[in-house]
Parts: sequence; structure tokens; C-alpha cells
Amino acid sequence: MTAVIETRGLTKTYGDVRALDGLDLVIPKGGVYGVLGPNGAGKSTLFRILLGLIRPTEGTATVMGGADTAAMRRMGSMIETPRFPPYMTARMVLRWLALEHGIAGEADIPYWLERVGLTRAADRKVRGFSVGMMQRLGIAASLMSRPDLVILDEPTSGMDPPGIQEMRGLIRSLAADDGVTVILASHQLSEVQRICDRVAIMNKGKLVLEGAVSELTAAGGERLRLIGTPVEKVLGALSVKATRDGEAVLAEIRREDGPALIRTLVGQGVDIHEAKWVGADLESIFFTETGAVQEADDAR
Ligand code: ATP
Repeated sequence: MTAVIETRGLTKTYGDVRALDGLDLVIPKGGVYGVLGPNGAGKSTLFRILLGLIRPTEGTATVMGGADTAAMRRMGSMIETPRFPPYMTARMVLRWLALEHGIAGEADIPYWLERVGLTRAADRKVRGFSVGMMQRLGIAASLMSRPDLVILDEPTSGMDPPGIQEMRGLIRSLAADDGVTVILASHQLSEVQRICDRVAIMNKGKLVLEGAVSELTAAGGERLRLIGTPVEKVLGALSVKATRDGEAVLAEIRREDGPALIRTLVGQGVDIHEAKWVGADLESIFFTETGAVQEADDAR
């Protein structure tokens, strides 16, 4: 396996805060790789180090085999919602970036505008752009140098469902058709499950789980998803491992133990509104691994 990113004992401290705490991570070449973790897990810190914006306190990060500037030139990135001069149109922004960095010819600009779905808005001033449109323009800007690797921090934040769908198509196509390795951070776990081939789940600056999405979800196993009231009684009655999923509880039990569990709950005065078997999804794996509170708005 060829690695595009390799970190060894990567650590970054800010006073007492260990934003990264001895992170060992290998990201393979090709495909779409998701970096997940609750707020403060260290995702942005990792990206900033990879992009050469900050230095690690300890440890090493190797990008495309070498920690030199030539490797940096083969990377594109969009971290945080990009800002462009408000009086410029989308086309002018790309032209300006192309001239500034000598990265793309005039002829490439309509292609990238089309690729990110901004052809119709090409001659509108970015002042009136939505967050989603800004993100798409930011992605076009990050791609114009035709990088081998692109790092996108929350590429679908602020987008409506059609925008997210388009972005999903673009990201998949970058990996499949252009051979670009895409590394992205996102809090939208169902989206990550659809887009990414592999993921790393981080928590408190450390790696807690890494693997192919298909393998992680298959290994996660089945759970009984119960909606019962009062929910505290459902949780209290479960001696097995259980996690909250909104109003439901996911119980890690064997299929043959399901009926007995339901009988016990009913016997304890619990009203069962729904009970069904569900496969593990990335979201439930995430909450199990990070111990994050499932109802957290920012995790949706
Ligand atoms: P989010 O999902 O909210 O973007 P994240 O996983 O990207 O979070 P980081 O932004 O990397 O997390 O932050 C990791 C930790 O480091 C947090 O506790 C954060 O407060 C701290 N941190 C990050 N940058 C700085 C800084 N410049 N100065 C002080 N502390 C910082």
C-alpha cells in the first residue's frame, strides 16, 4: 500500500491542551478518506500540520513520501469556509487565483466552474453567494492546480440537500475519474458513510478506530433498536451494552435474546413503541468509540 500521509507520534500542545496526542495514522493513496471526531478531537490541527501551516510539538508527519515543499505543491485544500473579495465574480476569483499562483490557464476556468456546479453563477459577485456556493468555489480553487491530494474540512457544511448530493458526486468523481486522493473531515456521519472508502475516528487527539467503512460497519454487528417509554427504564433494565440514538436505545444483544428482553421490559411497566433489528452504521460506531453524546446538535 502506498501512503499519501503518514504520521508518527504526532503531538501538538497549546498550553495544557493536547490537541494531538501521539497520533499514528497512515492514509493510503486513492479513494476518499474521512477523518471523524467530536469537536476538539484534533482534526483541524492535523490538517493544519499536514498543510504546513503549523508545526507539531513532537512527532512527524510525512506527506506523499517527503516533508518538502514539492509535496505541498501537489496538495490542494479547503479548510474552513473560504473568503474571497466580495466585489469579485466567481470567474474573476478563479482567474485571480490562476494568475496569482500561475496554476491554471484561462481555458480551465469554465471547466472547474462547471465541475462544481457554478456555471450559472459564474458572473455573479461572490458578495451574494450562500455558504454552500462559497464552499463550492473554494473547492474549485483548491482543484485548479490539479493536485494529487486534496484536503477538505467540512466540504458540505452549509449546503442544502441538492448541494450535498452534487458535492458527493464531485468528490466521488475526483477519486474515481481523476485519481485524486480526497481527505475530508465531516460531522455528517451518514454522508461520510456514503462518500468515504475508509475512515479514521479521532478523539482527544488520538486515533480510536481506523478502517474501511464496509469492514467497520460489517464488524459492528446487529443491534436491537428499541423505542420505549420511559427511556430511563429501558436503559436501566439493560445489563448489556446500550447506546442512545435520539429517542431510541440500541441494545447489543443476540437475536435469540430479543423476545425475553421485550417481555422483561413490558413486565417492568415499559411501553414498547417500536423494536427492530438494525445493522451498525457509522454513526452508532462513532458514538460507541468516542463516548460522545448522541443528541449533540453539532454531530448531526
Ligand atoms: P471541530 O470539529 O470543532 O472543528 P477539531 O477536531 O477540528 O474540532 P481542533 O480544532 O483541532 O479540533 O482542536 C483540538 C483542540 O485544540 C481543541 O481543544 C482546541 O480548543 C485546541 N486548539 C486548537 N487550536 C488552538 C489554538 N490556536 N490555540 C489554543 N488551543 C487550540
